[in-house]
Amino acid sequence: MVERIYDTLKGILYTDLPKNNKDQVVVYDRPILGWYFGDRDIKPSNLSIIFYGTSVPIKDISLGLQEYEHRITIGVDAGADNVEISERLVQEATRLVLAVLRRHRRMWVIETCPICSKFALTPRHFTEDHSTLLSPYVTAAQNNFDTLWAETHDASVTAPTLPASGLASEAFLRMYDAVGLGTTVSGLSTNAKNNILAMQRDFVEPIRLLYDVTCSDNKPSDDGRGQALLKSGQITLSAKELVKQTIYGPDNVPTTAF
Ligand SMILES: [Zn+2]
Repeated sequence: MVERIYDTLKGILYTDLPKNNKDQVVVYDRPILGWYFGDRDIKPSNLSIIFYGTSVPIKDISLGLQEYEHRITIGVDAGADNVEISERLVQEATRLVLAVLRRHRRMWVIETCPICSKFALTPRHFTEDHSTLLSPYVTAAQNNFDTLWAETHDASVTAPTLPASGLASEAFLRMYDAVGLGTTVSGLSTNAKNNILAMQRDFVEPIRLLYDVTCSDNKPSDDGRGQALLKSGQITLSAKELVKQTIYGPDNVPTTAF
């Protein structure tokens, strides 16, 4: 559940932060060489970024709809250097991380693409890299929206253009569901089809959306004594996610179950 969110944060930070000519993220002249999931006792001396978090409170919004409240800590560590240099590096790195994350009030969280195995940060990947495959589903999604709009609006009110990411997301999910129902999807390789079936067996949510993403706390430095060898900064990120459960109830068991 949170693993893919960490991947997304890592992807956003890597994409947005300044880089050197070796495509490494740099803070002043120092590259960030370590990107880790899960806090740890032994930390590298190089500048590194660590993602970790504790519990995720789950609130029931209505039957079959829940809201997850994620709280994720992004740690920055630097050490094995002149203490003041480590301190300056950590302060500058937390400033940069905060500057990037403040721009992302909403985030798509996308599973690895079952068609090409790429990890994308927006569902637009599906319609841009697999346009032929998804084109009938884009048309179907757009037609569905146009029909609904026409039913609920006077003809004089022009429909707004759907955002490309929303349309891509709807088109992909239609294709994803079609595979699950056993419908033949023209142009879909056997490998991609099997990947989608495996995702469905594993209850994977292929496209998720985090909203109310805010950096709720910033510690530019640990300001600790006895910390001469390692300086740490921390940013706490809060995000909400709505999760839908469409199949529930006492009869949701096969009669042969035991
Ligand atoms: Zn792909």
